Amino acid sequence: MKKHFSWMLFTSLIWAMILCFPHPALPKENTLSVATSIAPLASLIKEIAGNEAEVICIIPPGSEPHTFELKPKDMVRLEKAKLLFAVGWNFENFIKQLLIHLSEKVDIVEVNKGIEPIYYASKEPNPHIWLSANNIITITHTIAEYLSQIDPSNREYYFKNAQSLITKIQELHHRFSQKFRSLKNRSFIASHPSWSYLARDYDLQEIGVLEEGPHQIPSPRAIKDLIQKAREKGTKLVLADRLHNPQLAEMIAREIGGKVLYLDVLGSPDTSCWELLERNLEPIYQALSEHEQPDNSN
Ligand SMILES: [Zn+2]
Repeated sequence: MKKHFSWMLFTSLIWAMILCFPHPALPKENTLSVATSIAPLASLIKEIAGNEAEVICIIPPGSEPHTFELKPKDMVRLEKAKLLFAVGWNFENFIKQLLIHLSEKVDIVEVNKGIEPIYYASKEPNPHIWLSANNIITITHTIAEYLSQIDPSNREYYFKNAQSLITKIQELHHRFSQKFRSLKNRSFIASHPSWSYLARDYDLQEIGVLEEGPHQIPSPRAIKDLIQKAREKGTKLVLADRLHNPQLAEMIAREIGGKVLYLDVLGSPDTSCWELLERNLEPIYQALSEHEQPDNSN
């Protein structure tokens, strides 16, 4: 009898523990599997989904996302994904390849929904939407909504996480809006069109981009005109990354008596989206304000 009683006590304790901890620290056996193309979206989904979803990031850090091609091992990882969040606007060229080879159907959600596009001269929308506080807020809503559609039992949980993320982004956005507003010259040249949405958020002036797409080298005439324009506007900053034309960026910076600022466009799946944004916003602000002082003393 005593033995029976202690067994009952033991099982009740186990049940009490299960009921008290509905969200265990480790992903569950039948966890929802969600895929995405780039690290900033992966980190965003992780923050919204918490332990309720396993997130597969397809493009590894350091790879050129525009020209990325799937390998057989990526196909194997993607077989279990129920949902794929993509930037869209033809950013992920590998999606066509994916749709042909995947045996199970995967729902593809383009997170550009609700974002006002900035167009290239070619009339194509610029897909670098994740480097903007305003856009991240829109993307966060989209991710929370689609996760909830596929997993309605956790709707409240996803939206609660989304809201706390949005609060952090809004704080960051407010802080930098004030900082940038104090600057007189907010112009820059970009080596790749990664910063157009960030420029829109803070009223910065992108006076030119060295390449519109990967490996599109500008003509000598276009470079000459851009240098001329930068001199007229007092532009001293070239925003660049190591993947796109660093030598050309350095050459232009020398010509305009300015400097190249190397930035982190993609971060890693473990870097928060707002952290990545802050990691870029702060040096841009610092670089613009450095060149501000000599002008003020005139
Ligand atoms: Zn790009």
